[in-house]
Amino acid sequence: MTFLEHVNDLVVGNITFPFTNYTMNRRGVLRHYHELRKSERYPQEQLQEMQLRKFRELVKYAGKQCPFYTARFKEAGLLPEDIRTLEDVKKIPPLTRKEVMDHCRELLDTRFWPSIPFADQSTRGPGQPASFARFRKHKLVKNTSSGSTGAPVTFYEDGAITGRNWALELRLKDWFGHKPGVREARLVRISTDYLPNSKTLLARKRLWHQLILPGVNLTDPDYALSVEKIKEFRPKVLWGFTSALTGLAVYIRRANPDMASWRPELAISWAAPLYEHEKALLSSVFHCAQTNIYGSREVGHIAFFCPEGSLHINQEDLLVESQRDNDASAADHPGEIIVTTLDRSPMPFIRYRMGDIGEVAPGNCACGRSLLVIKNFLGRTGEVFYTRDGRMISPNFWMRTFMVGRQSQTIERWQVVYRKDRSIHLRIVPRPNFTPETEADIRRHLEKNLSTVTPVDFEYVSKIEKHSSGKEMLIINESNQP
Ligand SMILES: [Zn+2]
Repeated sequence: MTFLEHVNDLVVGNITFPFTNYTMNRRGVLRHYHELRKSERYPQEQLQEMQLRKFRELVKYAGKQCPFYTARFKEAGLLPEDIRTLEDVKKIPPLTRKEVMDHCRELLDTRFWPSIPFADQSTRGPGQPASFARFRKHKLVKNTSSGSTGAPVTFYEDGAITGRNWALELRLKDWFGHKPGVREARLVRISTDYLPNSKTLLARKRLWHQLILPGVNLTDPDYALSVEKIKEFRPKVLWGFTSALTGLAVYIRRANPDMASWRPELAISWAAPLYEHEKALLSSVFHCAQTNIYGSREVGHIAFFCPEGSLHINQEDLLVESQRDNDASAADHPGEIIVTTLDRSPMPFIRYRMGDIGEVAPGNCACGRSLLVIKNFLGRTGEVFYTRDGRMISPNFWMRTFMVGRQSQTIERWQVVYRKDRSIHLRIVPRPNFTPETEADIRRHLEKNLSTVTPVDFEYVSKIEKHSSGKEMLIINESNQP
C-alpha cells in the first residue's frame, strides 16, 4: 500500500464516511465505534449495570410515547421503577413478529406519526433515508425485514439502527486488524437494477470505500463483471450475504478467472449462519480470515464471531436473552433468542422474539473481550425438530451429514421434510455413485443419531423445487404447524 493510499483510507474512515452518514441522520458512528472498543473489555458487572440503566430509561420512554407499550405495561401492572434487576425484564411479555405486523403504528413514538406518510411515500429502497435527512423535518425511514422464511415485517427507524450497525462493523473489522476506511466489497440484495456506474454507487466507492455489487440471482456474466470490479478496486474486506459469498466462491472455483492480483484478507458473511462446508469453501477459494454476523434488520447486528471463534453479543446496544418455552420436551435444550434494543429509537423493540435457538453464556474467551456469547446457536426455531423421544435435531446435523465427508460425494441435492407425525421424509437427488449401500449407510448414521423411534423414508427425485422466494429450502418443518 502506498503512502497516498494510506492517507486516502484515513480520510475516508475518519472524515467522509462518518460525516456523510451524519448528514443522513446516522449520528455518532465514529464516536460509538471508539466507545465500543473500550466497553468490550469492561467487567461484566459494569456492562450489566449499563444495560439495566438503559432498560429502565427505555421502559419509561416507551410507556409514555408508544401506545402499544403503554397498554402492554399497564396490562402487566408494570411501572418503570419495578425494573430493579435485569431479571425483572421478564415481567414484560415477549413481542412477536405478528404483533409488530399488526401494531406497527402503535409501536411507534406518537410524535413521529405525522412523518409516516412521508416515509411511506419514499421511492428509495427500504432503509434508505432522504438526502440530508439530518436537516429535514421528517426523518423517519421505512424499512422491511428480508422475509426470506415468512412474510416481511415493516418497521420504522430514524437512522439510529443503521448508524449503530456501521459502528459495530467498524469494531468487528478492528477485531481482525482493519481500521476505518479499509476498502470493502459489499455483495448486497440488488440484482437486475444494478448499475455499476450510478451516482450513488460511485459516491459509496469514493466516500465510503464500499464497492457495491449485486448479491442475488446472479448468472455467470454477472459474476464475471463482479470479479473484474473487485480486481480493479482491490478490497481487503469481502462482505455479503452468506449465500452471495459462497455463490461468488463457487463461480471462481468453476470458471477459474485469473485472481493472482487480488485476495481478500477478511470475509464477513451475514443474514444466515456460515456452516462448516461453507466455511471450508470460502477458505479454499479466498484463503482469508472469516467471520459471521448474526442480526436482523429490525434490531440490527446482534452478535459477531471474534478471531477466537466465540459469537460475542453486542451487549452495549442490546439486551439479549435466551428463553426456554414451557414444552417439557425442550426443558434441557437452549431456548429462543429474545432481543431488546436499548438505545433510543422511535420504534423500540422490547423483548422481540427472534425465532432463533441459542444460549446466552459467559464469554471467558481467549480474545480477552468480556462480552457475553451465544452458545449452541442452532438456527431458526422453525428448522429445529424434536424426535418422538425428545431429542433435538438442528439444521447443522443435516449439513454435517450431507455436505461434509463422504456423503457429499454421493448426493447432488437434498431436502429434509419433518412430517406432522414426527417422521422424517428425505428427498435426494443422487449422483451416479449413489448405491443401495449408500442408503444403508445413511440409515445406520440416522439410527445412531436420531434414535430408532423416528421413522425415516427416502424419496429419490431428479430435481428439488425451490421455495416461492427463490430460496432452496433444505428443511421443511411440518411437525410444528398447528
Ligand atoms: Zn472472543
